[in-house]
Amino acid sequence: MKALGIVNQKGGVGKTTTAVNLAAYLAAGGRRVLLLDMDPQGNATSGLGLRGAEQGLYEALGDPSRLKEFTRETSQPGLHVLPSTPDLAGAGVELADDPDALGRLLASVSGYDLVIIDAPPSLGPLTVNVLAAAHALLIPLQAEYYALEGLAGLMETVERVQGGLNPRLKVLGVVLTMFDGRTNLSQEVETMVRQHFGELVFWSVIPRNVRLSEAPSYAKPINAFAPLSSGAASYKRLAEEVLQRVEKI
Ligand code: ADP
Ligand code: MG
Repeated sequence: MKALGIVNQKGGVGKTTTAVNLAAYLAAGGRRVLLLDMDPQGNATSGLGLRGAEQGLYEALGDPSRLKEFTRETSQPGLHVLPSTPDLAGAGVELADDPDALGRLLASVSGYDLVIIDAPPSLGPLTVNVLAAAHALLIPLQAEYYALEGLAGLMETVERVQGGLNPRLKVLGVVLTMFDGRTNLSQEVETMVRQHFGELVFWSVIPRNVRLSEAPSYAKPINAFAPLSSGAASYKRLAEEVLQRVEKI
């Protein structure tokens, strides 16, 4: 099993959209996938139609032996979710002194090929738990002028974690999201990001696509909601690239 954290402390850059749709395409390709919703806002949970779960990730962190009991199936074969519940909002205080809580939970995970972790928009204790537990990170960057802003802080935190809590942590790659090929700005940002990160940047770029923003309100990932959309095609390609890179870690 390999655990991938989807991280960026900025909100609204496409973390949850990437977590849900990447997980869905990995499952559609035959992998057994568990999505952990580590964001108290619970957008991944509600985007898959599981809003209102009473027990989920928070409760499993408290008692990893009950992980299976709190795990929910989704409409997508092979894709299970450990939902975010309201109690997760208070977990930051508890997790501040316990950066290995998620790692202990992952140690009890069995029967999955991949665990995808949707992180919250901060560098707080929930995200530090993700960095400490994951094998690798996928960083979505919105194709906008300030895409790289704040990334130095994330990279410093990643290096600190690599130097202590999680020496095996890798950055799997950076993915550009909400790319608008009609604008010079998006293309300039892509050039800048590829110059900065080189081969770390996935070849697949996620376009701005209204279908991707509509899918959560139908409680479906894009492969089920609009499989012929450009957004669907881009996440399908990203899933293939992710699998190629995961094999090497
Ligand atoms: P984050 O989890 O980083 O806060 P989200 O994935 O929730 O970001 O995305 C923020 C908003 O942008 C959401 O309303 C989402 O539906 C929308 N969105 C994300 N990616 C795309 C895209 N490629 N095209 C259009 N809308 C998108
Ligand atoms: Mg999110």
